[in-house]
Amino acid sequence: MAHNSYYEFVTKNNYEINKNVAYGKVDDYLITIYQDVRFKLIIIPLPKITDDQKKQLVSYLKSQKKEMPRTYVYFDNRVLVVKIKEPFTQIPLEQFEKTFDIIMGYIKDNHISSGKPCIFCGNEGAHETIKITNIEYYYHRNCYDKAIKEIEAEQEKLAQEEVKQNYNGFIGALVGSILFGVLWAIFYEKGLIPALFMFFLPTISLRFHQAFKGKFTKNLVNEIILANFIVLFIVIIVIIIRAKINLAEMFTKENQVVMTNIFIGITATLLGNLLLRNRFKRYMQEDIKE
Ligand SMILES: [Zn+2]
Repeated sequence: MAHNSYYEFVTKNNYEINKNVAYGKVDDYLITIYQDVRFKLIIIPLPKITDDQKKQLVSYLKSQKKEMPRTYVYFDNRVLVVKIKEPFTQIPLEQFEKTFDIIMGYIKDNHISSGKPCIFCGNEGAHETIKITNIEYYYHRNCYDKAIKEIEAEQEKLAQEEVKQNYNGFIGALVGSILFGVLWAIFYEKGLIPALFMFFLPTISLRFHQAFKGKFTKNLVNEIILANFIVLFIVIIVIIIRAKINLAEMFTKENQVVMTNIFIGITATLLGNLLLRNRFKRYMQEDIKE
């Protein structure tokens, strides 16, 4: 029968079990044990440990390698993590207990981070415990509330910055569009060549989007298309007004030249945007493939 030393150990020691994670205590030390398919983790927060103590603890456990094979020791900040690899089956209970005792023995004998220090401030007298990402810690409620408030303030600030930045990019795209749009409005009567301004509207918009520190998001293309067509619409109205064309007479013969040039401008804008969209699509796909 395959060993289940995880289950044996945590039931024997009255741990609080939540599937493959279990929480227990040795003296005042909080222990989290995690069972994965191919390894076990012993996780022990040591909020008051000094850098020297860290080094000594790690080198001591390394020196015990023979007694605890396939064991890897490291710190995640001030949390000791001991990983026991189990490539085929779980290690026997005896072996696990031996490893556990070596670790706890050293920590207790050297009084490393003893008592009930708060995970947030490191001070004593934290009697409540909290589970953060499945690891149990001591904490002061005040410290927790303070930390949560700080995180919320930080997130709010980030969210605001994001909104502002997206806005910046769109304004940039609009400024770029206006620039080329005005040039087309001035020279539109010359036909195809000035229509190139409209064809390159997306390109100039992209440049200005970047120059205004706009964010590169999935919406980038939509922002540029929107900016381009707003400007196209306004420029067409300006052209129609300047040419003194009555809406009712828009398609009469005498207005044919103006209307043809407007049509060329619309086509150029559409074409430019279509190319931009395809380029962007390809770019995103390549991004995913990587
Ligand atoms: Zn505290």
